[in-house]
Amino acid sequence: MLDVLDTARRIALDEEGVLGRDVLAGLAALGREDVGALLALADEVRRRASGDAAAVEVLFNAKKGGCSEDCHFCSQSARYATDVVAEPLRETHEFLAAAQAARARGAAEFCIVVAVRGPSAALLDRVCEATRAILADMPELHVAVSLGILNDAHCAALVDAGVRKVNHNLETSRRHFPAICTTHSYDERWETCLRAKRHGLELCSGGIIGMGETADDRLDFLYALQTLGPVEVPINFLNPRPGTPFADRSVVDPVEALRFVALARLALPNALVRLAGGREITLQGLQDLGMRSGASGIVLGAYLTTAGRADEDDFAMLQRTGFRVLS
Ligand code: SF4
Repeated sequence: MLDVLDTARRIALDEEGVLGRDVLAGLAALGREDVGALLALADEVRRRASGDAAAVEVLFNAKKGGCSEDCHFCSQSARYATDVVAEPLRETHEFLAAAQAARARGAAEFCIVVAVRGPSAALLDRVCEATRAILADMPELHVAVSLGILNDAHCAALVDAGVRKVNHNLETSRRHFPAICTTHSYDERWETCLRAKRHGLELCSGGIIGMGETADDRLDFLYALQTLGPVEVPINFLNPRPGTPFADRSVVDPVEALRFVALARLALPNALVRLAGGREITLQGLQDLGMRSGASGIVLGAYLTTAGRADEDDFAMLQRTGFRVLS
């Protein structure tokens, strides 16, 4: 089985090429005793791609809960009795204050997130107005948005407002998607991703592991991301939320979580691979190793409905693991 590691090393490092599905499948099947070597290879590929740079992002939940969709992992769906209390869309000055706080905490990127299927005209106007206000105050801050399914007019308005990046996760494989969501389709997600790229927006697309997908689903998911070519791949690990259909699922095995981070780096060698929600409960004491398994960024501190750990713990981790935080 070590042959596949040699092959991967040759393609990824010597030839600076992209691993095909057969090689990724071989790496996914490596015995646990060889996972350490896989993580080390992914770390080397990350260092070649982005050196010691670490990208730190803060999320802003600008409209919490009450979502019409039924994503089975999500406590913001109005269909489930969860601990999330729906809140209306925030005012423009609240977006600005949140962005200023994110900058002060050391983030170079601020992602505006809303719990909707797709933006209404009023919501889009608010996000665009807020983006303009943020960029007028902090032109160096990268503004990203996660607004659900987008059409061409939405994308054009976002570009005009100065939004740099759109997050829209594939979440999982095409085959597994109907098992996690029935109110919109994988194809709708795929089309939004392509549309954002067509408009010149940077694409951030990843997903969540631990939602009952098979090893093949994880490979299909990575292969789809390879095809899509996002500049950023956020990796979330299921944090089973009370009240959701996935409340009773187990947390992902940490070794398999690390393997997936490494596979994502090797599948998309030049992408920003960002450790996101669920990293604390999944990796626990292995978060440092997560950063040395191919990752090149983190979501700082807290997620949309769940808390992370203290900022100083995350910055200490980045320092310990040899990263320099991008400012
Ligand atoms: S993941 Fe997004 S679209 Fe799905 S229920 Fe949650 S907020 Fe709505």
